[in-house]
Parts: sequence; C-alpha cells; structure tokens
Amino acid sequence: MAKRAPAGGDGPPVPELIPPRPSLGQVRDVANGCRACHLYRNATQTVFGEGPRKAAVMLVGEQPGDAEDLAGHPFVGPAGKLLDRALAEAGIDRKIVYVTNVVKHFKFEPRGKRRIHAKPNGAEIAACRPWLETEIALIKPRVLVCLGATAAQALLGRAFRVSQQRGAFVPSSLAPRVTATVHPSSILRAPDDESRRAEMQRFVADLRRVAAELT
Ligand code: SF4
Repeated sequence: MAKRAPAGGDGPPVPELIPPRPSLGQVRDVANGCRACHLYRNATQTVFGEGPRKAAVMLVGEQPGDAEDLAGHPFVGPAGKLLDRALAEAGIDRKIVYVTNVVKHFKFEPRGKRRIHAKPNGAEIAACRPWLETEIALIKPRVLVCLGATAAQALLGRAFRVSQQRGAFVPSSLAPRVTATVHPSSILRAPDDESRRAEMQRFVADLRRVAAELT
C-alpha cells in the first residue's frame, strides 16, 4: 500500500509522485492530482508554476491567492499585475521569467463570502517543497528571486530577514545567483498612496539588480 503523506493529506507524499527524469509538463500533470497535504481539500485546484522551460529568472512566491486559485495560474491577480508592472519598469522581459510558489494550493480562512489568505505552516511547506525543487532542477534558472518572507525563509533559512537582506545576493546551491525581495502583495497593503509609491520604487530597484545580472 502507498505511504500516506504526513501533512494531513490522503495521498502519497510528493517524492513518490514525481516520475524519474520527468519533463516539466509531466510534473505539472502529476501535481494537478496531488493530495499530499490537506490544502488540496478546500482549494479549487493545484496552481503550478508557469513560464518558459529555459527561463533565466525564477520568481518564487508563497502560495496562490484567491484569483490564482480560481484561474489555475500563478500571479494573475492584483499582486501579479503589480509584479508585471515592476518587471517592465526594471527592464526584465516577462518572457524570460518563470513564476511559481513554495506551496501550490491556496490556503485560506472563510470570512463570510470572502476567502482570506492564511499563511502556510512548516509542515505544509515541507510537504509541497519537492514540487519546487523539481521545477528548479528542470529549469535551472540563472537568477532565483524569493518574493516575501515565506519563500525566503523556506529556501534561504529561517534566519533570513527580507527587511534587512532584500536585494542582496546570497550564496546558495539553488541557482548561480539567488536573492530575495518583498512579495508584491505587501506593496498593495501599504497604508497610503505615498508609501505604496515608495515601496514600489524599492521593489523595482531590487528587480533592477536582477536585471543587471542578466546582461
Ligand atoms: S499544497 Fe502542495 S503538497 Fe499540499 S496538496 Fe497541494 S500540491 Fe500537494
């Protein structure tokens, strides 16, 4: 009998789902049926990463949001639109960027008719991580960018502080150049227009450092 996953899922753990020497398309197909942790139960669908197979840049966020869960595509909601604007301002062609998340199902708390984002915990992140590791292994991005604290701490260690270390390149075996910045949703949550503009400028400045690595 197949081993059950430890994070409250009722399917096999992710490593048992990944075929030997898979293609990106195969991995995406298998991930669509993942039940390795309990998050699949309330979400609409798996939201796998998207972008070119030979993307030079991989952006890793936390998890799909409400709009992404419904659409089945990453970074298509308000934060994704802000990200697209920031990439364009930084001079990074969206066509060389692969976007994904450390967790592939939307975790939320229902509040009336709304679904409020809930932060994934360590067990959920650990259960889902092999999908991300497989994406990184297949795409081999030149630059990997963690968006926000959840992605940064999952990939760069729990001691990593985005507030202090954003924009800096850090040694990592994940990719030749690895850095972190804020998640674009944090810019949308800025309390007023002025701070939103300032945060956007800082975000674009971090992305310009990534653009400089590509030239
Ligand atoms: S969140 Fe990840 S590990 Fe959990 S069911 Fe979804 S794809 Fe599988």
